[in-house]
Amino acid sequence: MMDTPLTISAIADHVATFHGSREIVSVTADNPRHRYTWGDAMLRAKKLAAALKKLGLQQGDRLGTVAWNDYRHLEIYYGVGGAGHVCHTINPRLFPEQLIFIINHAEDRWLAVDPMFLPLIEKIAEHLNSVEGIIVLTDEAHMPESSLDNVHCYETLVGAESGDFEWPQVDERSASALCYTSGTTGDPKGVLYNHRSTILHAYAGIAPDVLSLSSQDTVLPVVPLFHVNAWGIPYSTAIVGAKLVMPGPKMGDGETLYELLDSEDVSIALGVPTVWLALLQYVEQNGKRLDKLERTVVGGAAVPRSMIEAFRDIHGVELRQGWGMTEMSPIGTVNSLKSGLESLDSEARLDLATKAGRGVFGCELRIVDDAGNELPWDGVAYGALQVRGPWVCSDYFKLEGKSGSHTDDGWFDTGDVATIDPEGYLAITDRTKDVIKSGGEWISSIELENTAMGHPDVAEAAVIGVSHPKWTERPLLLVVRNEGAELSDKAMLAYFKGRVADWWIPSDVVFVDELPHTATGKVKKVELRQQFADFKLSG
Ligand code: AMP
Repeated sequence: MMDTPLTISAIADHVATFHGSREIVSVTADNPRHRYTWGDAMLRAKKLAAALKKLGLQQGDRLGTVAWNDYRHLEIYYGVGGAGHVCHTINPRLFPEQLIFIINHAEDRWLAVDPMFLPLIEKIAEHLNSVEGIIVLTDEAHMPESSLDNVHCYETLVGAESGDFEWPQVDERSASALCYTSGTTGDPKGVLYNHRSTILHAYAGIAPDVLSLSSQDTVLPVVPLFHVNAWGIPYSTAIVGAKLVMPGPKMGDGETLYELLDSEDVSIALGVPTVWLALLQYVEQNGKRLDKLERTVVGGAAVPRSMIEAFRDIHGVELRQGWGMTEMSPIGTVNSLKSGLESLDSEARLDLATKAGRGVFGCELRIVDDAGNELPWDGVAYGALQVRGPWVCSDYFKLEGKSGSHTDDGWFDTGDVATIDPEGYLAITDRTKDVIKSGGEWISSIELENTAMGHPDVAEAAVIGVSHPKWTERPLLLVVRNEGAELSDKAMLAYFKGRVADWWIPSDVVFVDELPHTATGKVKKVELRQQFADFKLSG
């Protein structure tokens, strides 16, 4: 067989050739509805690559992006990766110290930023050691003033090129993208993706039981382009030639999301649970229905049962839960119904849908006990979840094995605790460091949170372990009530009766105005544990 390299530029050429007229629609800061085609995008990606060459970017050099999901960011994915540079996507919600650490650690030579993030970069600029210049993702008419030197306008750079740029030959094992984990402790760690891993992951993503993408689909990634390559969507949609719709800075805005879903005939939308809470709230309060949407893929955090039910029973939308990590490109498992399970009744299907999903070919799974012994797939035994495969990182960028994240026999330790049932469906019970140990037994904080979220008065819930003289630790439930709800602590705790084992029922509940979140929308349990470290349980 031929040894044709699996490269980003090969996808660019494919989509331009076969799906050049397929549309890409974006909301941007300077245009509420920008429209063009995959053909336009790939031509402009080549122009960008030519411009970057003139700016002196060499193969392997990193260009950092601080930008929302829109067509210019997509062009950078291809223009940078396709030309053999590395597209380093940066989360703008990180603290300034984290941004400085990440940009310096990555040794980004150039930054491409949305106009609204330029002030953020100006504030930290004096601490950035490697950055030579900034490209602002807008046209001349919208160029902001800047105190910095060497600031370029994206449209001017791209507009000066003819588009006759030829993609260079690159080794499929060379790096194409870089993303840092938004760890809640310690310095962020970089994951360097290569062309081959990116394409194998994108191929896996399009399969019917995974994301199920075809040229007929219109795809709305609400997962940011700065969060694990938006789950591979920029690549998998190009492989199949799907229409792409991107919400720009309007990510968490239920109304904009609804308008895009409805007016652009979106068939599949992807994002973390918090985004869909905003959308569901909007449609409920405004008497709308999600008539056109066929499926949502929801991952990045456990998906509440009530959300799966709302999508399915109110809107007729299939919700597929996915599990993965920055370190895994990110897809590990996706929850679709396996042959043989069709006879499950509605409730049993809902139970199954609350699991994280089953293995995707290309990502092996195992659960092990503290001594490293493999545990059975019986849906009961839980242990450390480990993975292996061609789109799982073999190390962190520039850490050279120092993170201790891999086992001696070559598996990546995910830091998640899980069960796997006899059908191969994985259920995440906790992050290793969030596990609650009560009387020597583990209690799953995720299951308790999901149960609490099923109560109609609960907007958000988190469960942490607090110390207890007899049981070592007991679960404490923190709840954000829906606006105007008068839920009492007694009623909240009574709700758990019959839904979880009695000894799992939280010992106490505290109602809070809001929960702290990380930059990627996960509840910051470390902060909650610090805040409630001295909490005296009444139960
Ligand atoms: P990140 O690298 O920021 O995408 O975070 C990855 C982590 O998110 C995983 O290790 C899990 O702890 C969590 N996660 C992702 N998907 C799920 C899911 N479906 N259920 C529970 N936790 C999840």
